[in-house]
Amino acid sequence: MLDRSTIWPYDEQGEPREFYYSRYGSPTVAEAEARLGELERGEALLFPSGSGATTALVLSLLEPGDTIALAEGCYFGTGVTFQALSKWGLHYVEFDQTGPPPDGVQLIWLEAPSNPYGTMPDLAAAAAHPAPVVVDSTVATPVHLRPLEHGADYALHSVTKYLAGHDDVLMGAVVGANVDELRTFRTRTGIVAAPDPAWLLLRGLKTLELRVRRQTETATELAARLRAHPKVEAVRYAGLGGLLSFDVADGAAARRVEVSTRLIVNATSLGGVTSVMESRHRWEGDRVPTGLLRLSAGLEDVDALWADLVQALDFS
Ligand code: PLP
Repeated sequence: MLDRSTIWPYDEQGEPREFYYSRYGSPTVAEAEARLGELERGEALLFPSGSGATTALVLSLLEPGDTIALAEGCYFGTGVTFQALSKWGLHYVEFDQTGPPPDGVQLIWLEAPSNPYGTMPDLAAAAAHPAPVVVDSTVATPVHLRPLEHGADYALHSVTKYLAGHDDVLMGAVVGANVDELRTFRTRTGIVAAPDPAWLLLRGLKTLELRVRRQTETATELAARLRAHPKVEAVRYAGLGGLLSFDVADGAAARRVEVSTRLIVNATSLGGVTSVMESRHRWEGDRVPTGLLRLSAGLEDVDALWADLVQALDFS
């Protein structure tokens, strides 16, 4: 149920009930957290965006002078967030997440699978490291992976993507075995999710499994067909989830392809019911090949998507 109140009355003795002021907790947010917690087999906390969840988690766990080991080639914005926090004395080093994390770090940040490279982290190697482990599981979703069952301390989501699933919610989540300290930090710093997006998350979760299974089938099929296409130089797909990337000859070719699709929308983000594709070079610069296109498969018919890609690739 959607409850937009910010306050709830005290009980007959004048004592606070479970909910009293929405910065501390609110029923719709709590219900969505309970549902996500069931899916991830942990305790979930919602935040106003995925990046907000990242910021809250890092600030609550670390101290000035600490270093994060960040999976190289992961979501570009995570490094940008860490950089923004560097003036408070937080550092990060990048490492290849398919192997063990480096020594001397206080937090390990993995991504399953990485966006846009599609690498999967070595979760066992990370769990053997003394530092706490965060897995950004935005692309895998609990349909494909539950990081806590593989020794991770926290799973993190941009809820904006698959969990909400309709490109109309900005929200983030952290799930852990015990999130009491993070909950207190969230209340004190006010990085709190609102009821309306939480309600949309509840609606999205009802179809999560159906959507993600279909998006995975579609992405698997498109990856196979793209691999056989003469204009495509490389395809990266982890074999799970709806996200893949592929390379055409160069930046000019990528631009021609992305503006030539009719069904696939030329837009950023991923995880929604509508397929979107974009050149990542515009955002990430030299960190990615100029010809790299990132495609998020939606729920459209796979043959219609393929026909759209084929006609667009003709322009490359
Ligand atoms: N993590 C991943 C893997 C993402 O793709 C994104 C957004 O693109 C984020 C985190 C950040 O989430 P938000 O945009 O909800 O702040």
